[in-house]
Amino acid sequence: MSMQLHVIGSSPAWPNPGGAHSGYLVECDGRRLLLDCGPGVLSRLRQAERWPEVDAIAITHFHLDHWGDLVPWVWGLMVGPAREEDPPELWVPPSGRDELRALGAKLGMPDMFEQTFQVREYTEHEPFGAAGLEIKALRLPHYTLETYGFRVTNGARSLAYSGDSGPSERLAELARGCDVFLCEATLERPELDGEPRGHLTAEEAVDAFRASGADRLILTHRPQELPVESGLELAYDGLEVDFS
Ligand SMILES: [Zn+2]
Repeated sequence: MSMQLHVIGSSPAWPNPGGAHSGYLVECDGRRLLLDCGPGVLSRLRQAERWPEVDAIAITHFHLDHWGDLVPWVWGLMVGPAREEDPPELWVPPSGRDELRALGAKLGMPDMFEQTFQVREYTEHEPFGAAGLEIKALRLPHYTLETYGFRVTNGARSLAYSGDSGPSERLAELARGCDVFLCEATLERPELDGEPRGHLTAEEAVDAFRASGADRLILTHRPQELPVESGLELAYDGLEVDFS
């Protein structure tokens, strides 16, 4: 049961040069789970195959850089090259169905997401199964928006993904003892954040990692303009991580 992480897109809220927004593909036993689906992710996935064979997509929150490519994915499923294919499950936050309907009303039609994807809402702390993996969602602070981090396991190996988060003890809880902690590090300095906080500096991500006892920290959602100090590992589009 080997598990792999493929970083499809790792940009912050604005794209790094040539980069895609948040999209992290977890593969285990031939099944695939996509964590977030920001702009540029679908195009990147289509460079490898005619239409991405993904069993499930899970969205951390409804900021555009984490879900925007669900819109072109809908059109591909409805009238494009994916119309004959089984639609992926689409796991969204607890009030996500209503959110999708409101977004659909503006972007096409209210039920465009439910017509195409198999939409499911996850519940905090209640593990759910998708693409043969077990996922647990934990609420994290991200300005005033309802936002979750994910912990994904195949029973043997585990990945924690922060999504977007301000500083919180919950980050350490999310990543407690896991193999890889993929943690956002958007900011240069804490005072450049809003109030309430919504993102982390690299130092704050390192603090959360140390408190978690996780094995490996990979920083992501980092502007290219902000290099990290040597010794810290930074995600890049195309990075592959093998959990075996
Ligand atoms: Zn983001």
